[in-house]
Amino acid sequence: MNDLVHTKLDVRFDYERAYLYGKAWITLKPHFYNTDSLLLDAKGMDIKEVSVMKGSSKTKLKYDYDGMELRITLDKVYKGGENYTIYIDYTSKPNELKVKGSAAITDAKGLYFINPKGEDKDKPTQIWTQGETEANSVWMPTIDKPNQKTTDEIYMTVPAKYVTLSNGLLMSQKKNADGTRTDYWKMDLPHAPYLFFMGVGEFSVIKDSYKGKEVSYYVEKDYAPVARGIFGYTPEMIKFFSEKLGVEFPWQKYAQIVGRDYVSGAMENTTATLHQESAYQNARELVDGKAWEGTIAHELFHQWFGDLVTAESWSHITVNESMADYSQTLWMEYKHGKDAGDAENYKGLQEYLSNPGESKKDLVRFKYADKEDVFDLVSYQKGGRIHHMLRNYVGDDAYFKSLNNYLTSNKFKPGEAGQMRLAFEEVTGRDMNWYWNQWFYGSGNPVVKIDYNYDDVAGKAMVIIEQTQKTGKVFRLPIAIDVYTGAVKKRYQVWVENKIDTFSFNYTQKPDLINVDADKVMLWVKTDNKTAENYVHQAKYAPLFLDRKEALDYFAKKGMPELALGLTDKFAPLRISTITKLEASKIAEDAKVIEGIEKIANTDNDRKTKAAAIAYLAKTSNIKYKPLFEKNINDSSYSVAGAALEGLVGLEPARGYELAKKYSIDAKGDLGAVVNDIIIKEGTEADFDFIANRFDKMPLSQEKLEAATGFAGYLEKVQNITNVKKGIDLIIKFRNAVPEQFRSFVDPMFKSGLNKLGKAKGKEITDYIDSNFK
Ligand SMILES: [Zn+2]
Repeated sequence: MNDLVHTKLDVRFDYERAYLYGKAWITLKPHFYNTDSLLLDAKGMDIKEVSVMKGSSKTKLKYDYDGMELRITLDKVYKGGENYTIYIDYTSKPNELKVKGSAAITDAKGLYFINPKGEDKDKPTQIWTQGETEANSVWMPTIDKPNQKTTDEIYMTVPAKYVTLSNGLLMSQKKNADGTRTDYWKMDLPHAPYLFFMGVGEFSVIKDSYKGKEVSYYVEKDYAPVARGIFGYTPEMIKFFSEKLGVEFPWQKYAQIVGRDYVSGAMENTTATLHQESAYQNARELVDGKAWEGTIAHELFHQWFGDLVTAESWSHITVNESMADYSQTLWMEYKHGKDAGDAENYKGLQEYLSNPGESKKDLVRFKYADKEDVFDLVSYQKGGRIHHMLRNYVGDDAYFKSLNNYLTSNKFKPGEAGQMRLAFEEVTGRDMNWYWNQWFYGSGNPVVKIDYNYDDVAGKAMVIIEQTQKTGKVFRLPIAIDVYTGAVKKRYQVWVENKIDTFSFNYTQKPDLINVDADKVMLWVKTDNKTAENYVHQAKYAPLFLDRKEALDYFAKKGMPELALGLTDKFAPLRISTITKLEASKIAEDAKVIEGIEKIANTDNDRKTKAAAIAYLAKTSNIKYKPLFEKNINDSSYSVAGAALEGLVGLEPARGYELAKKYSIDAKGDLGAVVNDIIIKEGTEADFDFIANRFDKMPLSQEKLEAATGFAGYLEKVQNITNVKKGIDLIIKFRNAVPEQFRSFVDPMFKSGLNKLGKAKGKEITDYIDSNFK
């Protein structure tokens, strides 16, 4: 057993063949026991030389290489803790990587060449790497395990027009005679091999700072003017997390880079986070909100939980991912208020609950089919909610002090769920085994039924909580119950720990509301048998996001006029969901409701809320709103402009196509969706060139995926067979541009659209589709 100590790399790239030519100097030491052998991960490489360094000279070593692992016989027995340096000359061939003769693994190439020969004129040439879980050993020989830590230096030689990014600091740049440049990056703090990163391409680098450290954003030049709009909260986030954790941001700098065709959402490489293209929003999109803010917080929090202290094995990924997931709630709460934090937490809960299969998995998992399987709704969303409950149970001061204890005790080392437990026990003095056994080492969640009984004669209220989950497992839950009489509430702290628990409270005046789980933190599914009167009281007096949301949901379900209360809720997403619910409600036409929605359409400061109100009024096709639509059609927010366009088209359908064409020049988001709808619905044979060109020019995106179905539908109207085939070519071209690992998700959509077109058009077109869609 050897440990990594230091990794020095010298790499060049062959864009023609998508190869990396590398030289590695890897310093290691036997962990404890003396050894004369070394096993390195080195996937799919050509190995040209393996030597041991003796001062500046090399002594060649015997080795055995099976395409995945490099077994090296050392020149002597090295003692536990004795450093030695191995030199390896190698070629990395990520696109030719085979795993034991099976198909190439497309999502674990480690090193990705994007448009390396520049054949696609619409796409820049880039290189980026993706290490997690164990893929960096495709481009550097290493011990590719998360419990290893090493400092590093990387010399990257690239065409001089490109910018490079790696971990740590850029120490120097040297121009070479052949038109290349060698950048020297150095990371002098130890980190895990999967967190190594290299990025190469034409990027604008926008620089902020935090306490003298560089905070930078690597974006394509079109996005340089909006880079701060997208990433600009980063310094404030670093400050917030550093202060909350009581551990200063531990690294030398913090860079974020956006890569084309990235295979995951984002990746927390130490000091060099990589984001997928969805991070890009233009100025108008940003008016509707920073869509990537949560992900930016998530990856940043990993710089502590994941990078500073690293999951010892993939079984313990919770100490990385549950924390990073929960950081999104922490940030939202801090930056946008308690409602925003609670809404983020609730969203995570719903995502976990939406996949019933997840309830069977333990959070910490020692058995899994594939190490990639642990990156799921349990490790992220459920784990985040487990931390939310934990914070509520121990209190804020103890929660953050415990996290500080975990980080400072284990910094630059691996960590496990057990060490997290000890950190909490040391701070709180409480036994936490029950909590860890139930939530971290266990599976599932409570499913509860809550009933109420009032005995006015005895002056006693009873709350009956029954756990009905089919597993038979009974959860232990510390719960707050608020008993309301008018605006006055009294809090009771109780423990649920049996299949059925009954709690009773004395009263002199019958309570208006008994609010179980008053802090709304429970990770459970509940049926809460409150009365309509209880919910009306809850909507008025209970303070939290979920209190109001539950009440509004109830009013909507029962068709109660109190639903309109949601129109003046202080939290914009609740105003929006109220507007949506009103559409299907029998009070939709009430004068008071209309008045409330008109007010939002005219004065709401939140653009998405304003847009929802305008879209609501658009559906009335009432001519009196024409000035409102005209006024908002040029709004900078795509959602407001889209709703206004929908309104105008409803009033003047004949003008619709011309308007859609006019606004199609700059139409993304909701405006893009409305424009697409109109163009495809109203477009005629004569508009083929415009429509086909517009479709072709759309960037690879979810929007384009939706537009593809619409475009296939439009082609049904086209009589000219050459044009129909041209259209099919464009759809297939788009499909072929979707990275392979997403094909299984998107192909059914493409197929159903094209099959429908084939059916409508007959044999010639069906055959054409069959022979071209592969
Ligand atoms: Zn993460």
